[in-house]
Amino acid sequence: MSLAERLRSGERRALAKAITLIESTRADHREQADALLTALMPATGHALRLGISGVPGVGKSTFIEAFGLLLLSRGHRVAVLTIDPSSTLSGGAILGDKTRMEKLSMDTRAFIRPSPSSGTLGGVAEKTREAMLLCEAAGYDIVIVETVGVGQSETAVAGMTDLYLLLQLPNAGDDLQAIKKGVMELADLVVINKADLDPGAAMRAQAQITSALRLLPAHAASVPRVLQVSALRADGIEALWAALGTLRSDRQASGAWQHKRREQSLAWLWERIQAGLRQAFMGAPGMAQQLAAATAEVRDGRTPASTAARQLLAAFQLRSNS
Ligand code: GDP
Repeated sequence: MSLAERLRSGERRALAKAITLIESTRADHREQADALLTALMPATGHALRLGISGVPGVGKSTFIEAFGLLLLSRGHRVAVLTIDPSSTLSGGAILGDKTRMEKLSMDTRAFIRPSPSSGTLGGVAEKTREAMLLCEAAGYDIVIVETVGVGQSETAVAGMTDLYLLLQLPNAGDDLQAIKKGVMELADLVVINKADLDPGAAMRAQAQITSALRLLPAHAASVPRVLQVSALRADGIEALWAALGTLRSDRQASGAWQHKRREQSLAWLWERIQAGLRQAFMGAPGMAQQLAAATAEVRDGRTPASTAARQLLAAFQLRSNS
């Protein structure tokens, strides 16, 4: 059986192997990966794509474990992919340094894959998007993409999922930070975790975030809702699943769901074109020297940036035509 067939039949090892293939930087692997993805395309797109982020320690893995187990008990198959920006920057791992989601990872109906450990954030996000398609083709009907709330990775996750959940601690300091960073605006649902620790604080946080969200520019399809949970006690997880179901059916009925998917695919296309062009530009013979010279000119104020850019692009065009 081919890798595609084994993957389609739900063999977890085949899925893991396919993800390793798409993560490879070797040109021949890339060709195989492209062929595999293209062959599997008709089998993709049917899953619920769910993004989850929050600062380290907010309870992401505890939450995903509780939530994932609930989903399995309802007959779903769950894949969890992670984007860990720390591993791409420094080789350090915020998300991967401990045993996470122990019960979930032991269940054969779940598939958990840590973040690719090298590459730029854009490159890692790209691999994760592709891995998501592979998981869908392998029959996972819920794909969770998790990231840490410490950088640009939230925007990447919100840009590749249908619904994006922001996990928050029940104290106001964090909430303000998330609002400042614009992350709150991305959230379809804000989840206040650890409500068991201080129910009073959780209530206050819920009220504060709800009113803060009212001040933000109107959310495209719906006003984000704020819920409280305790991941540790698995409290509030069913209510959250119900809220996600409502959001999904409302948006599917209005067409907003399908619209978002199309927009995401086109944004992905352009992002890849830009990344490819940039790579070709940087890699063209002699370009590095010319760029270094132009950088110095612009930095010292001798040549306007726009003029330097035009000259560089003209030189690049000449080289790629020759
Ligand atoms: P992550 O870094 O976001 O993945 O956070 P973890 O899931 O590893 O949780 C960090 C710590 O918070 C762990 O000690 C968890 O047991 C604890 N924790 C997570 N969720 C809850 C919760 O709902 N209530 C309480 N009291 N503790 C929690």
